[in-house]
Amino acid sequence: MRKNCIKVLKKNGEPIRRELLEMNMLDNSARICSERDFLYLPLIGKPQEEDLKRITGDFELIEHDFEEQKGQLKLEDLLEDVPHFEVIGDIALIEDDVFEPEKVANAIMKVKINVKTVLAALGPVEGEFRTRRFKAIAGEDRTSTIHKEYGCKYYIDLERAYFTPRLATERSRILAQVKAGQTVADMFAGVGPYSIMIARKNPDIRVIAMDKNPDAVEFLRRNIELNSVTNVEAIEGDANQEVEKFPDVADHVIMNLPHNANEFLDAAMKLCAQGAIIHYYDITPEDDLFDSSLKLIEEAASKAGREIELIDARVVRSYAPHQLNVCIEVKVR
Ligand code: SAM
Repeated sequence: MRKNCIKVLKKNGEPIRRELLEMNMLDNSARICSERDFLYLPLIGKPQEEDLKRITGDFELIEHDFEEQKGQLKLEDLLEDVPHFEVIGDIALIEDDVFEPEKVANAIMKVKINVKTVLAALGPVEGEFRTRRFKAIAGEDRTSTIHKEYGCKYYIDLERAYFTPRLATERSRILAQVKAGQTVADMFAGVGPYSIMIARKNPDIRVIAMDKNPDAVEFLRRNIELNSVTNVEAIEGDANQEVEKFPDVADHVIMNLPHNANEFLDAAMKLCAQGAIIHYYDITPEDDLFDSSLKLIEEAASKAGREIELIDARVVRSYAPHQLNVCIEVKVR
């Protein structure tokens, strides 16, 4: 049978195989094959571009013929239409508009042996703390789990704090820019996926991680311990006020509060040491991806008597029809 697959050098194959498994992208119904120096890893359906971006290392996306893996149950065997679902730790999340949710949930439980709970979202991500409500429809009735990403572990209660695995590649992109000896201020740290990953890179990096949601900060503290990092300061409070304790200290300021980050630009400027980089996230319409947001950053800089230089402006992922999650990076002098 012909399938989309990842073609990767054998020596680089195992980490990618594991990543595909964790991201629920590896098709277990087909047998992985190898030819000469290459490994061919079969994929479930047609992968989304943003999922491919999350895979680390060099690979090619191609089509290839595979033999069937006998005896392996597939979702397609149990469901006519397999809806999109996400796996965080051992919890599978399906959307609230999925047709026959119980049937889908039971099929996921049968096929994905790592999944112990299936939750259906009861609404969108909402409110100041960006949380979401869920209903357990199969397996254990719980919303907490431990998710693994790039060698880090995160304890999360999905109803009490925000988390998405969809930013994993984006987080690793920021990680690559941070150097030993630098200070990072993560103004909206949540349970710590940016902060902890960066702190683990080098004990000589100082990370100041803030969040207003007491539950998120409780999990952040737990995750600091879980990952044995000693260089993250967890601060519970409103970023607009907490920044006063850290004037001119940061070499990187991470502003991952799309929709509202503009309300915190004056505060971000206060954190910036000479030459600091602000990583500013926003949700913007496709006909004005960067200009209006950049103007707001320029206004805040000028108010603070600072100058900015645009370093990068990129689309991180699609968010809703005609709406994109973007990241703008500026150097502050
Ligand atoms: N950076 C984290 C991540 O990637 O998972 C969390 C991002 S989430 C989109 C935004 C976070 O900002 C939430 O955890 C929310 O509680 C926090 N937040 C909202 N308003 C805040 C404020 N005024 N000060 C500090 N944190 C705030």
